[in-house]
Amino acid sequence: VIKLQDIKKSFDQITVLKDINLTVNKREVVVIMGPSGSGKSTLLRCMTFLEEPNGGIVKVGTKEVKSGLPLNKKRKTTIRELRQNTGFVFQQFNLFPHKTALENVMEGPIVIKKMERDKAKEKAIALLTKVGLVDRMDHYPAKLSGGQQQRVAIARALSMEPMVMLYDEPTSALDPELVREVLQVMKDLAKEGMTMIVVTHEMSFARDVADRIIFMDEGVIVEEGSSKQIFNNPREERTQRFLQDVN
Ligand code: ATP
Ligand code: MG
Repeated sequence: VIKLQDIKKSFDQITVLKDINLTVNKREVVVIMGPSGSGKSTLLRCMTFLEEPNGGIVKVGTKEVKSGLPLNKKRKTTIRELRQNTGFVFQQFNLFPHKTALENVMEGPIVIKKMERDKAKEKAIALLTKVGLVDRMDHYPAKLSGGQQQRVAIARALSMEPMVMLYDEPTSALDPELVREVLQVMKDLAKEGMTMIVVTHEMSFARDVADRIIFMDEGVIVEEGSSKQIFNNPREERTQRFLQDVN
């Protein structure tokens, strides 16, 4: 579903991503771990051209974008299409504050997919049911807990029927008692076969749900393997040190 080829990214003189190559298959759950500043968020942002890479090719589904070309109309369209293939969930929930939970989830299909209002509403209700929030659908974000807001954010991303879901530390801003409900929704989605890439420090989630774990440091993929291999038998010293520090 996703293919990254030789993705490079620098900010000013600082190289943040060095020739990242990564393929994620349909129905696969990939967890990305690594120390602060290793480039995890930048990598997710480059996948969707929220950041323009300085080199390399991103492919999501059938949409392929080469970096470093002029941003003409055709390229803009391809980037928009590529982005529609992905659902992005951020650490900060980024809901529209002046819209209810239901309206937040209806917005994308109506505005971007030009879906009829009634149909979008029906769909949004189904998604809010899935994330366990149908009874809160008329609440504004300010009246929802962080965990509930994040579940609305997941429903909103799903409303666009993405081919892959990208999560950037979706539970890091949450109080500990709210983390579980969000992870449970993500687990359920994984079980249903949703393709996802998750940046997280939640080791139990990584252990239970990840098909593959990628360990990044200083802009490179240091090591990747099954969760069993990474947790029980990390090959690289940097991975070992990181796992010791977080445990
Ligand atoms: P964390 O675990 O803290 O979220 P991360 O692995 O997600 O870290 P990134 O946010 O990708 O790390 O940042 C990687 C490096 O790129 C850092 O050194 C950061 O300071 C730098 N960086 C990220 N975004 C920008 C930006 N917009 N301008 C300049 N430097 C940036
Ligand atoms: Mg980050």
